[in-house]
Amino acid sequence: MGRWGRYALYWDAGQNTVQVGRDSYDIYENGLNWTNGLQVGGGLLGLGGNYTTWRRLPPGETPATGAVAESSPPSRRSIQSWFAFWADRGGVTKMNPLTNRRFFNSYNPIVHNFEVRGTVAYLDTAVHEGVHAFIGRRMPIIWDLGEARFFGIPVGAPVAYVEELVAYSFGHLATGRIHALPFVPIEALASLTPGQQAVVIVTGVGAGYIICQLD
Ligand SMILES: [Zn+2]
Repeated sequence: MGRWGRYALYWDAGQNTVQVGRDSYDIYENGLNWTNGLQVGGGLLGLGGNYTTWRRLPPGETPATGAVAESSPPSRRSIQSWFAFWADRGGVTKMNPLTNRRFFNSYNPIVHNFEVRGTVAYLDTAVHEGVHAFIGRRMPIIWDLGEARFFGIPVGAPVAYVEELVAYSFGHLATGRIHALPFVPIEALASLTPGQQAVVIVTGVGAGYIICQLD
C-alpha cells in the first residue's frame, strides 16, 4: 500500500468511490442500481488481456454488464501487473448530474474502481477516475462541453478526448508506468464512444490538413 496507496484511499474517500468486483463482497451501492462486477471492456492493439475502458458514463447510460466474475490470480502486486497496464480492469465514473441543462450543470460524480485495493492497477484507476471526478466537481463546464451535441453529432468529443489524455497520463505517472505513456493517445481514444471517436479522428485529420497548408 505505502504512502501512495494511502493517498489513493484518501482520494477515494473524497470522490465517492465504490469498490466493485472481486474481493469486495460488501459493496456500498450508493443508491444506484449497480451490479457487482460491472465491466466496460474492449481490446487494445491485440495485446491480449482484459483492457478496460475507463470512460465516464453519460447521464442515463448504464455500463455493459460483463464477465468480471472469472477468477484471476489474487495478487496483482507483481512486476507483471505493474508492467501490463493494458490488462487493468479499470473503473468508471458515473456522472450523476444534479441538474438537467445543456450547460452549467452540476454533478456529483461517483467512481467505481474495479481493481483490488492496494494494487498498482487500483492506484492507477483511482487517480484516473479521480481526475474525472475532480473535473466533474470543480470544472463541470468541461463535462458539459465534452458531452455537447449538435444535430446529434457529439461535437464535444475533442474535449472529452483531452480529458481522457490527462486522466490516463496522471494515472500512469502516479504508478510510475512510464512505458504506458506512448499508448495514452490510443487508450484515450478507446475510452470514447464510436461516435466520439469518429469526431476526434475527423477533427484530428482536419487540423493536420490545415497545419500542413500553413507551410
Ligand atoms: Zn477516463
